[in-house]
Amino acid sequence: MKIRLFSLIVAGFVLAGCQAFFGDAAINASDEAEAPVWISYKSNQVTISYPSDINLRRLEARLRTRYFTVSAVERDLFSNSDYQIEKRISSRLESILLRAEQILAMYPPYLEVKIKVFRNRRELSQEYTSLFGAVENYKSFYIYGQSTIYTSLQDISDSVISHELAHAVIDNYFKVVPPEKTAELMATYVDSHLERE
Ligand SMILES: [Zn+2]
Repeated sequence: MKIRLFSLIVAGFVLAGCQAFFGDAAINASDEAEAPVWISYKSNQVTISYPSDINLRRLEARLRTRYFTVSAVERDLFSNSDYQIEKRISSRLESILLRAEQILAMYPPYLEVKIKVFRNRRELSQEYTSLFGAVENYKSFYIYGQSTIYTSLQDISDSVISHELAHAVIDNYFKVVPPEKTAELMATYVDSHLERE
């Protein structure tokens, strides 16, 4: 899903429904864990941020469920165990971004995307509430004005990331941001066509 947010102070943002929506929101503030230290790792176009205690091996495994053609150089960057795991994960995200651009045939110049990975959906929902003052239970969401994808280790996957990265590509490609429904169709198309040539 995508949220158009030009300023956090402006309340006129638009929510778009998408497949990442779940209706069983349950946020329990009383068992909030201690605020974690966040770590960021920047690669070419993608910066990933995550709590320092996150399980990076699990995160990496969740981004290896879909198989699409990549160059030998790309494959080496995200699968060679000689590289540190942060670099492999970032390289995989870069490959998914490139794949989304290929499927859409859209290559917006200067596109940079941040991906913030919370430990679980409960913490992601708490972040949503702190940003928007509303309760939702999304697997992920993309904020256009921040060029940031929010998701969690619990729900991140190649599918979730390809969908949200597609939103980033689409919104940064057109001079006039397309209607929500059109963008949603295209983002869903990218996820469903990840493997197809
Ligand atoms: Zn969406």
